[in-house]
Amino acid sequence: MPRRIRDPHKYDPPGRVNHVPPPLTPAERRFLDELLVDMDEGRAAIDAGFPTRAYGRKLLAIPRVNMALLARLRRRAERVHVEADYILRRWFLLESADPREISEHWMVPCRYCWGDEHQFQFNDVELRDATQAHKFAQLKIEDETKRTPFDEQGGGGYTILKPPCRGPDWAAFEAERGHPGAVTTADHTCPACYGEGVPHIIFHDTRTLSPGAALLYKGVKQTGKTYEILTRDQDAAREQMAKHLGMFVERKLILVADARQMTDLELNNAITIEIDSLRDASVTTGGDTLELEAPAGEAPSRDSD
Ligand SMILES: [Zn+2]
Repeated sequence: MPRRIRDPHKYDPPGRVNHVPPPLTPAERRFLDELLVDMDEGRAAIDAGFPTRAYGRKLLAIPRVNMALLARLRRRAERVHVEADYILRRWFLLESADPREISEHWMVPCRYCWGDEHQFQFNDVELRDATQAHKFAQLKIEDETKRTPFDEQGGGGYTILKPPCRGPDWAAFEAERGHPGAVTTADHTCPACYGEGVPHIIFHDTRTLSPGAALLYKGVKQTGKTYEILTRDQDAAREQMAKHLGMFVERKLILVADARQMTDLELNNAITIEIDSLRDASVTTGGDTLELEAPAGEAPSRDSD
């Protein structure tokens, strides 16, 4: 018995995968063109020439319009998934980058923390240079009795690679401020900085940044002797992601979730789902039609005002 060949133009009942919907009217076509710009059905309806925003919801409730939208979304998903994936990943990288890869603010020992008897402490190079300078200065004094020996003060050995001098009273004060378990580094506290240390700012080598930090880094601005490290706006990236994901989550899950209210984990999951769905381009026809309609109980009143 010869195998029956399916006629692609034959009309199938709705719900079948190969259902070919009746053609759209020009106005409906314009509506879909507009809708795909920002997925705002109210605005799309107005811009397509319909009298009110409420027509957006009404149009989406028409099966052939809805199916045409899904088909367009699928085609667009196929077309843009690489780009969207790329952009989303860049946003995600930027948003999750650690700014400390670019610059850091340390609290290092003050010069009196670890000097002998809490006198000024040189680092070893400074001590050598100061000793030399003193020696030459003294040699210029002709009257030898007026020459003085070099005062090493707190001595050499200063380094920023040590914590400040912090004793039990510092730890007790930290505990009072809600930081219990602060680690002491001495049996007493530095009388000059009270154990807090002094700020030390580090700009890291941008040649070795991770991909995320490299996105975060925007350049360096030099004004006279001042350098300013410029970075991209992580809050904006966060907002962009939330907006982008929010749009998809709203449309797919019908306003059940707001990406801005999600935890990091939920957001990560949403990103994964989002990227996977774009990759699979798995927008299907038929059953999914309902997803684009307003949920029961939620009248499209926001479109009417
Ligand atoms: Zn100190």
